[in-house]
Amino acid sequence: MKALVKSARGAGHMSIREVDEPAPGPGQVRVRVKWTGICGTDVHIASGAFFHYFPPLILGHEFSGEIDALGEGVEGISVGDRVTAEPTKSSCGSCPHCAGGNYNRCDERDIAGVVSDGAFTNYVVTRAESIHRLPDSVSLKAGALMEPLAVCVHGLTEQCRLTEGDTVLVVGPGSIGLGCAQVAMAHGARVIIAGLPRDADRLAMAGRLGVFRAVNVEEEDLGAIVREATGGWGADLAVEAVGGAAAVRSCIENVRKGGQMLQVGLPGRPAEVNLDLLAWKEIRLTGTFGQKNSAWRTALRLLEEGRVDTEAMVTDILPLERWQEGFGMMERGEGLKILLEPSPL
Ligand SMILES: [Zn+2]
Ligand SMILES: [Zn+2]
Repeated sequence: MKALVKSARGAGHMSIREVDEPAPGPGQVRVRVKWTGICGTDVHIASGAFFHYFPPLILGHEFSGEIDALGEGVEGISVGDRVTAEPTKSSCGSCPHCAGGNYNRCDERDIAGVVSDGAFTNYVVTRAESIHRLPDSVSLKAGALMEPLAVCVHGLTEQCRLTEGDTVLVVGPGSIGLGCAQVAMAHGARVIIAGLPRDADRLAMAGRLGVFRAVNVEEEDLGAIVREATGGWGADLAVEAVGGAAAVRSCIENVRKGGQMLQVGLPGRPAEVNLDLLAWKEIRLTGTFGQKNSAWRTALRLLEEGRVDTEAMVTDILPLERWQEGFGMMERGEGLKILLEPSPL
């Protein structure tokens, strides 16, 4: 089968290669991949900027497809089931994080497309516990975006405290930012989302998805808009979904005293933070990374009930062979979620 492989650390070392089809071991299943989303993390692995990846490996961790084969001892899953899967392929199972259900923090966690082979190919083998069956009302395209949606659910509802009626500021209208906006709205929050002139299409999409205000920060005064919307207080929760010093600053400046800030973006380098303001305003700064089973269940329920729309965030579909175009678009901030379709076998 053909696969998009990162063969060594550093910039580049990306190519389509012919690789062997994997077979499921005990407790594992094999998924025949239908769609795989390109994530910012994939782009950062391609450029060598991401800090945690282990080549050679097949990239791709946001995917959906059909169960194709079952390993020994797997129950409750059938060949032909329409599914998506958590990127966690295994974790140690015994460290304090795993014991508490927080296996996204496990140092031994195997992550599809990051630590070992992922889904920019025809088949992925993973543990049966990481499989989530898609309800009939959820399309395979929508299902391919379950991973980023679960990231948003984990960050906003498990790492932070999101209350109905909150004003949530999301800085960065990428797929994580728009996902966070949708999750916040699904929980009864009012969302202000901020972006740059190059984000015009994404801000327009945010408007269609129902945010309270979509703000181009070079044309409008974000601080004034947030103050006006909150009676001068500031946002209850600010989400940094860019990974950049300016966005971090914007969150700290616009969150209210006693408010929360969620860091989802990965700047890839140290960012200057005004800790005086953090202390003065008694801001609770929280990090978030990945997701776990509870977030996937919530994310799937939100999708099934139609309270979020991930398929609306798919702007482009390309065959695997044209991965370079897709990665280039991601780098230039074009489109939103780009899906790659595996090559015919
Ligand atoms: Zn991702
Ligand atoms: Zn562990």
